[in-house]
Amino acid sequence: MPEPTQSAVSSAASPVPQFELSRLSLYQFFGPGGVLSQRHPAYEFRRGQLAMASAVEEAIDEKRHLIVEAGTGTGKTLAYLLPIIKSGKRVIVSTGTKNLQEQLFFKDVPFLERALFGDAPESKPGAPVSGAESQAAKRLKVCYMKGRQNYLCRKKLYDLTGQPILNGLDEINEFRTLLDWDKETNTGDRAELTTLPENTPLWGKLNASAEHCIGSKCTEFERCFITAMRRQAAESDIIIVNHHLFFADLSVKLAAEKAPDAGVLPSAACVIFDEAHELEDVATSYFGVSVSNLKVDDLLRDLEITIRDKKVISTDLLQLSGRIRERSQFFFSLLPESDPQRPEGRSSTVPDGRFAFHDRTEFLEEFGSEFIGLKNVIRQLHSELQAIPNKPDEVHNLIRRTDELHAQLSFLMESHEKNTVYWIERRGGRSNRQRGVTTEGGKFAKAENVFLQATPIDVSAILRQSLFDRFESIVLTSATLAVANGFDYIKSRLGLEGARELIVPSHFDYESQAIFYVPPDMPGPRDANFAAQATIRIRQLLEITRGRAFCLFTSHAQMQQVHDALLGQLDYPMLLQGSAPKTALIEQFRSTPNAVLFATSSFWQGVDVQGEQLSCVIIDKIPFAVPSDPIVQARSQAIDESGGNSFLDFSVPAAVITLKQGFGRLIRSLNDRGLLVLLDNRILKMRYGKVFVSSLPAYTRTTDLRKVEEFFGCTHDE
Ligand code: SF4
Repeated sequence: MPEPTQSAVSSAASPVPQFELSRLSLYQFFGPGGVLSQRHPAYEFRRGQLAMASAVEEAIDEKRHLIVEAGTGTGKTLAYLLPIIKSGKRVIVSTGTKNLQEQLFFKDVPFLERALFGDAPESKPGAPVSGAESQAAKRLKVCYMKGRQNYLCRKKLYDLTGQPILNGLDEINEFRTLLDWDKETNTGDRAELTTLPENTPLWGKLNASAEHCIGSKCTEFERCFITAMRRQAAESDIIIVNHHLFFADLSVKLAAEKAPDAGVLPSAACVIFDEAHELEDVATSYFGVSVSNLKVDDLLRDLEITIRDKKVISTDLLQLSGRIRERSQFFFSLLPESDPQRPEGRSSTVPDGRFAFHDRTEFLEEFGSEFIGLKNVIRQLHSELQAIPNKPDEVHNLIRRTDELHAQLSFLMESHEKNTVYWIERRGGRSNRQRGVTTEGGKFAKAENVFLQATPIDVSAILRQSLFDRFESIVLTSATLAVANGFDYIKSRLGLEGARELIVPSHFDYESQAIFYVPPDMPGPRDANFAAQATIRIRQLLEITRGRAFCLFTSHAQMQQVHDALLGQLDYPMLLQGSAPKTALIEQFRSTPNAVLFATSSFWQGVDVQGEQLSCVIIDKIPFAVPSDPIVQARSQAIDESGGNSFLDFSVPAAVITLKQGFGRLIRSLNDRGLLVLLDNRILKMRYGKVFVSSLPAYTRTTDLRKVEEFFGCTHDE
């Protein structure tokens, strides 16, 4: 059954009177002849959907946590939304992707609202709060929130007016557009501004990021879009966010005494995490500490703007700013370029030069005076700012940021937390030449965008305390949470204890809808011949499927190599990741007959192409995480040191979930059919392969190419 849409809502059925909602059983809604069957023209009874809804209702009623794997086709959003609405409690729904956020807000909630309460008065499209009060029936109050960076900061906009720091005519024109838009927008959400270029640097200067916000002291506080969003959320029954916003808010609240105005989410009884397989990664990114040369540069830039705009007369401060910039550039240029403990040095397989910073102590022995020198000038800046009489609010913000920077640098270089991995990330970006940096003895030439990072190795204890112990009920759901029909892996990674568990049987007939082929005679993935053989097999398979395929690779290098080798050899249009933005490529794939897309990990999830246009998904290798990545390395080491087996307890289950995600691109509806291919036959030959096979849906499995031809032969004859 397709997802409900507003146009799919029948107007013939009667709504459920408000007073009866609490007495409406889930079966009366989801069951045959029930409310859903009357309201949805493509209704089908799905036992899994009812089972999931019952489990969610029990979890909310009994104040328990719940973990549910519900495959594509379950209709899981309605299965959790109805119990939420019935409960009358305030609930936060957090998703992994913007697509799902939008589906919930613009389709699923309005559908349920109409089914339960009748047609609503027209609400303004895109308004952040839906469900205005109706005289006749209770409406839902639903709030759709994005990260703060999506909203305009009015104070920055007005402060910048008339300032000569805009770059070029384009930026001046964009600024004028923003000034006009500010007069008419109700939300401040940049998504309304379709004419603003996606990557314009101007938005970076004007968005409502927490770092620059001065909260209730701001002159625009009452008219601020973040203030409005916070108030709307406080009045809402259902708050729809994404995982990044949720964990950014949680981490800000954990440090609440330093940023009392930064949290935007109100208290809630329950949280539903949809696409919950992403939680560990997102939580990890918000519970760490990071300082880069760019962060120091941004602080100094804001300091200099404040000195100029607020007429803080201080030659000392300007000189100090120059000294900090110089010391920062020098310090970051001294940081190692690779991990000497890794024989291959800065490996191309590690994205963006991420490597462990094992030898911080040795580094400080050699360059301690440069580090202390940098900290001293930052401390001096803090004191100078403190000493300013009648400080404007912007100066208070700078004091907080200077204090944080000092503390973060100390933590990154001097702390020895057992549960933390310290590492360095070198990202491409502005070169020194572009940034106008002069060099000293050639040393500055190394300092581009360098990030010092400290990341928790295990987030389970943090999540237990800050999440699972804090909310009375948490529901984790996704199509890919279970490994070998159990949740041990995800529960241990997230610190989830005592939760109810449910695996919802699929609504799809995977056995007849998909054939899973593994070529038994491929060389091993480390064999020098692998890429050449992969190219030959992919060409063969694409001839059978007539293109219409995603070829998904575990590395950019492999993607590029196979793509280049196939150029001119295929009769089908070839699309390559990186040649256009992701959404544009997916759109092109949908509209180009027989297209073949070559892509890597970012296309393994959140991509939905229904119908024949996608009839084949080929994956080159079992998607094990890169073992030399500093976080993966530290997690593996911690598991081994505590007596576990990092390969079986961590690497394999993580790869199982990623593989399920990748293959999950193929069957998106009851009518989809197609071929799944894994070119890595370790899944057949190695003992651990059984875990993968037992975790995948019950596709028809084969190692015989003729069976694949037969499968498509039938399709061709139809
Ligand atoms: S309160 Fe913060 S985000 Fe809002 S306008 Fe003021 S500085 Fe900007």
